[in-house]
Amino acid sequence: MLQLKNVDVCYGSFKALNNISMTVDTGELVVLLGANGAGKSSLFNAISGLNKPSAGDVEFEDRRLNGLKPNAIVSGGVVQCAEGRKLFPHMSVLQNLMLGAYVHRRDRAGNKQRLNEVLELFPILEDKAQQPAGSLSGGQQQMVAIGRAMMSRPRLLMLDEPSLGLAPLVVKQMFEIIKQINSLGTTVLLAEQNAFAALKIADRAYVMENGQLVMEGDQETMLGNEQVRRAYIGA
Ligand code: ATP
Repeated sequence: MLQLKNVDVCYGSFKALNNISMTVDTGELVVLLGANGAGKSSLFNAISGLNKPSAGDVEFEDRRLNGLKPNAIVSGGVVQCAEGRKLFPHMSVLQNLMLGAYVHRRDRAGNKQRLNEVLELFPILEDKAQQPAGSLSGGQQQMVAIGRAMMSRPRLLMLDEPSLGLAPLVVKQMFEIIKQINSLGTTVLLAEQNAFAALKIADRAYVMENGQLVMEGDQETMLGNEQVRRAYIGA
């Protein structure tokens, strides 16, 4: 479904991504592990069109994404839920969710159906629909951010650090919902520092260090790998 071939991204003279090649297959839940500054967000931005690769190719469903504008990439089925939620705090929860439906604005019936599906995933948001998004708890705001991304009807959903700053119980709930989104048919690429919880729901994972992918494996291999355990799980 998604294929990166020898992708480089530079910020001035600094090479943030170095020769990245990776794949995500239809239906998979793939995790990208890496410490702060490893390059996870740079990689996501290279896929979603916010960063322009200085070398290499990004392909989605056999279509080249390099050079396309971010809104064209969203319309094409690749949606990023950025680190830090980036909600409009003074707008209501419902208005924030509906912003995600902008790319399908002519399909009112489809958007209504999608909204119902999103509210089924996050029932608490139905009670909070008219409240300003900024008045919600951190976990609930993260739900709005993921819900808004789902309103764009992605075939590939990229989630950048969705558990960041959340209480442990909420983190657990968040990972359950991400797994559910994947089980319902959306392919997921998940960048996380919360390695253990992320690997527990993953099919496969890549490890990124200093802008390079240094390891790849399925869930079992990664959870059993001594180096991964020491560096990312702390056990
Ligand atoms: P984090 O989880 O902290 O966001 P990350 O793994 O997502 O980390 P990136 O944000 O992709 O990492 O950053 C990779 C490297 O690129 C870091 O050294 C960072 O300082 C640098 N970097 C990121 N954005 C820019 C930018 N706009 N200009 C210059 N350097 C940048």
